[in-house]
Amino acid sequence: MHRPAWDPRRKRWRAVLTYKTPDGRTGRHEVVAVNQADCLRKLNAAKEQVAKYGTPVTNNPTVAAFAARWLAEVAAETHTPNAYDAARASVNHQIVPTIGKRRIQTLLPSHVTAMRKTLEAPGFAGDGKTLSASVVKHAHSTLNRICDYAVAERVIPDNPARKAERTRQASQPTTTERQALTSDQLLAVIRASIARGDVFGILTVFKALTGLRQSEALGATLADLQLDAERTTVNGETLSFGAYTVNWQLQDLRREHGCGNPPDDPNEAWRCGYRRHGWCPEATWRVPSWYEKRQLKGALHLVRPKMSKIGKVVPLIPQLTELLRLWAAATKDQPNPHGLLFHHADGTPVIPKLDDRAWLETIHAAEVINDATLEAIKGKGGPTLRSMGLTGHISRHTLVTLLGELEVPTAIISRIVRHTDERTTDGYRHPHVAELTTGMGRLAAVIPTLAIEPPKPSE
Ligand SMILES: [Zn+2]
Repeated sequence: MHRPAWDPRRKRWRAVLTYKTPDGRTGRHEVVAVNQADCLRKLNAAKEQVAKYGTPVTNNPTVAAFAARWLAEVAAETHTPNAYDAARASVNHQIVPTIGKRRIQTLLPSHVTAMRKTLEAPGFAGDGKTLSASVVKHAHSTLNRICDYAVAERVIPDNPARKAERTRQASQPTTTERQALTSDQLLAVIRASIARGDVFGILTVFKALTGLRQSEALGATLADLQLDAERTTVNGETLSFGAYTVNWQLQDLRREHGCGNPPDDPNEAWRCGYRRHGWCPEATWRVPSWYEKRQLKGALHLVRPKMSKIGKVVPLIPQLTELLRLWAAATKDQPNPHGLLFHHADGTPVIPKLDDRAWLETIHAAEVINDATLEAIKGKGGPTLRSMGLTGHISRHTLVTLLGELEVPTAIISRIVRHTDERTTDGYRHPHVAELTTGMGRLAAVIPTLAIEPPKPSE
């Protein structure tokens, strides 16, 4: 009902505006007035607000409505796509289902504490699963930001989320996050990867010996690779180190309509004539205006990695440097329009899903998992690499653990793997690149020569 109609029961003019909220749900907003003109004015004001904010502005919105407004007005511009998706997931899956219907002006710290208790309760995540502490923490901090914005916009006088009780976090990360391979397993994984010799194998070794995140390794460019960076002496032997500067990461971006404001009725087409954003001829990528991106193929882009205050140059031990030299030479005649270090024979980027599949095969070949576990993970409904704490991310933890065992100082390890978490870095010391190389030199001393066979680029 997008135009005022007389409601004889209430003896008022009434109109209902349905609209699509920024998070894709259907919103419904009722306006009521004693005369038709006022009702129409209120309706038009609400339509304008939906176009501008994604939701009508009321004096006392529900938490759900104000959260939608925060996503559209604040998060869309300040958050990176990953951070935006995480914030939207907190809003949709934790905040709205628990306290979404509550009016924001009636929200008290005790309600926020109750929200946390509900989220922490066993089984909240469905299928008998319980949310992890970090998900609950993220929901709370998202609500905190939403309420901060509500304070700034003079909707509420102070922030109830800030005053709510926080469950004390265990100071150690959860066990799955801390899991690491033993150094023997790491060597077995490296050997299996070298035997494989293809793009996935070299990629796995690259990740294992640099600690790069998957997205950073998949987005690695030849321009950021230096094969002759530094020479250093370890145990009387001169070693030639390479260096990689982490300037890009591979990321899937989401598309959205670029043809104008959402239609009044979510079941109607947009201005371009389509409902699906994928078909909009003016479709744009949902990123903040300041976001730097290079399109590779479809939704795949190179974007800037997590900003790290502590440098982005990673020393490459001589064995890895030699392997990458062979790899670059073996693939130099393949098309490579984006200048990627790792790509398929036709120059297209490697996507995370294929890298994950290759990782599963590699840890099986390296006997980190046995046949039964491999079959269970491949089967439907069974354990996943994630649930077993065996994703490729484990090689990053393994490098941290190994460098620790080799008595490399924590501050230097943090800088090598570019931890963004302040707590894990030594705030007073900023190690020089030469110190990183010395730290990695200890790793070089325990890793055997790698380039046994020349790599086999895909056909
Ligand atoms: Zn469109």
